[in-house]
Amino acid sequence: MNTTANANLFSRLFDGIDDPNRLAIEQIDGSRITYGDLIARAGQMANVLIARGVKTGDRVAAQTEKSVSALVLYLATVRAGAVYLPLNTAYTLNELEYFITDAEPSLVVCDPSKLEGIKTIAAKVNAKVETLDASGNGSLTEAADKANTDFATVPRSNDDLAAILYTSGTTGRSKGAMLSHDNLASNSHSLVSYWRFTNKDVLIHALPIYHTHGLFVASNVTLFARASMIFLPKFDPDLILKLMARATVMMGVPTFYTRLLQNPGLTKDATKHMRLFISGSAPLLADTHREWSARTGHAVLERYGMTETNMNTSNPYDGDRVPGAVGHPLPGVSVRVTDPETGTELAPETIGMIEVKGPNVFKGYWRMPDKTKAEFRPDGFFITGDLGKIDDKGYVHILGRGKDLVISGGFNVYPKEIESEIDAMPGVVESAVIGVPHTDFGEGVTAVLVCNKGADVSEASVLKALDGRLAKFKMPKRVFVVDELPRNAMGKVQKNILRDTYKDIYKA
Ligand code: AMP
Repeated sequence: MNTTANANLFSRLFDGIDDPNRLAIEQIDGSRITYGDLIARAGQMANVLIARGVKTGDRVAAQTEKSVSALVLYLATVRAGAVYLPLNTAYTLNELEYFITDAEPSLVVCDPSKLEGIKTIAAKVNAKVETLDASGNGSLTEAADKANTDFATVPRSNDDLAAILYTSGTTGRSKGAMLSHDNLASNSHSLVSYWRFTNKDVLIHALPIYHTHGLFVASNVTLFARASMIFLPKFDPDLILKLMARATVMMGVPTFYTRLLQNPGLTKDATKHMRLFISGSAPLLADTHREWSARTGHAVLERYGMTETNMNTSNPYDGDRVPGAVGHPLPGVSVRVTDPETGTELAPETIGMIEVKGPNVFKGYWRMPDKTKAEFRPDGFFITGDLGKIDDKGYVHILGRGKDLVISGGFNVYPKEIESEIDAMPGVVESAVIGVPHTDFGEGVTAVLVCNKGADVSEASVLKALDGRLAKFKMPKRVFVVDELPRNAMGKVQKNILRDTYKDIYKA
């Protein structure tokens, strides 16, 4: 898909802009950035990148706090024909060394507090270093202030790279997913129409911008629609509730929804100006979906995507938004469920490996041709690593990561099935089911759960309630009640941490 002569994502986002005075971004300090400002600012920063020696196809790595300048850096990098490489703000210098030496950027942008350490690492790959702090100031913005706003967007073709995003890497080394200009542009275009975005929309943007959700889904969709976003440095439930009076859409991870539900201010009245709540990046519990509908009158629209594929499926804007399901494939995206061993397509309602194909799917892992080859089928489908099924109505359901599958006594146990049973019990907030090494069974099914304060839930009561509802081989061998489940910034439960915590419990 190419709507303009230059397939550069920046041209596709901004060429032919009708009204440069239209609001693009507002911040809580009241500052307002128009589309014209954004384009001019990206021009200044692109000029700085070129002056620092960044060439077409070079990587620009950035570990910066969320700020408008950080978003401009992304736009400027793409505009300059370079490849944007955002890095999670939680990464330590030790971790950054791996990413920087692997990606070999020509420029690294970091927080001033990390400057010395980053300089040492950057020197190993001859990269230059600039700074950007949480308020968007630093050596990069100082240079940009003095630069020319005019910049001729570098021509790029559909398959040229616009970004590399490293996957979270809970198993083995993190891999750099290479995303092209068309991967990003085509997916955002689809989402604008699927979710009915218009220039009247005001998005509450409280997600981080080093991840596909906040960077591409939230920002690109808003900009393509000529809508505006309220750019928040972090998730703040009280503030978000206030902003709902004048916003129209919120994109969030499931923890946004569970935390907002704990706030008594969440009512039908507080959300009456909003037209759409979208959730993704981790499973939204069916209970949370129902509770949200009851409290606000809005059915959350859940969608499914990943770093490598952008967005794959979405619940419908009009039809039923089914709790616990991630909806239908987006236009142009093919989704199938296969036998993980043979790759043979399975019938509806059968659980297997989810595979996807379409203009949204990435170009492979950076400098890992073998790994890339291993994760694509010969007919071009990408093997997502997610287990799931497609139901009779065509809705996709995710049943967990393949690596989270528990094999106990030779039987496959899908954690989601047991988690759903436990989550439905009175007093239980949420649960995570994991496989832990077991001398007799290979892996022992183990449940870890969080309960409401003061709830009368114990290992014995959970096992009693499950008895007769689950086949014997699926029954947890142990149940642990904890205060909270370990989660990463995108709200994903870190089962690898749980597996490590409980790794010795069945040892003889
Ligand atoms: P990431 O690459 O960090 O975006 O993680 C992608 C993974 O998050 C997917 O492969 C899924 O396992 C999970 N994920 C994303 N959206 C959903 C969803 N709506 N429901 C369940 N899992 C999801």
